[in-house]
Amino acid sequence: MRFDVLTLFPEMVDGVLRTSITGRAADAGYIEFYTHNIRDFSDDPRRRVDDTPYGGGSGMVMQAEPVYRCIGSVGRAPSSRVIYMSPKGRVLTQNKAMELSRLDQLIILCGHYEGIDQRVLDECVDEEISIGDYVLTGGELPACVLVDCVSRMIDGVLAEEASYKDESIFGGLLEYPHYTRPPVWHGKEVPEILKNGDHAKIDEWRYRKSIEVTREKRPDLI
Ligand code: SAM
Repeated sequence: MRFDVLTLFPEMVDGVLRTSITGRAADAGYIEFYTHNIRDFSDDPRRRVDDTPYGGGSGMVMQAEPVYRCIGSVGRAPSSRVIYMSPKGRVLTQNKAMELSRLDQLIILCGHYEGIDQRVLDECVDEEISIGDYVLTGGELPACVLVDCVSRMIDGVLAEEASYKDESIFGGLLEYPHYTRPPVWHGKEVPEILKNGDHAKIDEWRYRKSIEVTREKRPDLI
C-alpha cells in the first residue's frame, strides 16, 4: 500500500514514519510513503501558501491553488482516496482503518493554521477524518496516526496477523494484561496460570480478563 502525505512540514511526518515498525516495513517494501511539500507548488517567491481569511478574523488560511497543484502532482494507484485530516471529519475507528487498508493508496492532506480554503476541499477531497474531538496545530500528527493505524493491517508489516487481531478494540473488547520477566517485581507476582504452559487455560484466563478490563475501563463497549 502507498501513502502520500501532503504537508507544509514533511520533516515532521518523515521523522515519525521512518522510525520503528513503519520505517522497517517501508524499508522491506510492505508499504511505501512519500511526503510532498505543498510549498513546492506556490508561485510566491518566498514560497508562501497562506493568506488572511475573507470576512476577517484571526489566523491564516492555506490557499486553494498550491494545495490543488500538489494533489494533482501525485500519481494515482487503481484504488486511491484523498483524505483531509480535520477535526470536522468522522472520528477514526479501527473499522475505518480496516476499510482503508484494502485500498492501494491514501493521499493524505494536512492542514495548518486556520485550515484550508474550502473550495479546494470541496473539489478534491473524498473524505475528512479526525483523530479525536480536540484541535491540534496541524494535520501532520493526525496523518501519522492514520498511516500507522492502517499500516499495521497490511500483510507483512507486523510479524503475525494475530498481532493486530488480538489487540484492544479489534475484537470488540480491550486486551488482557501482559507480563514479562522477572516473575516477581516490587513484590508483585505474575499470575500463576501464565507460567504453567496450559494454553487452553491461559486463553480462558485472558478472555475473562479482557471482559473484566473492558467492563471496568470501557463499559460502553460491552
Ligand atoms: N480552524 C479549524 C477548525 O476549527 O475546524 C482547525 C484548524 S487546526 C488549528 C489546523 C489543522 O490541524 C487542520 O486543518 C487539520 O488538518 C489539523 N487538525 C487539527 N485537529 C485535528 C484533529 N482532531 N484530527 C485531524 N486533524 C486535525
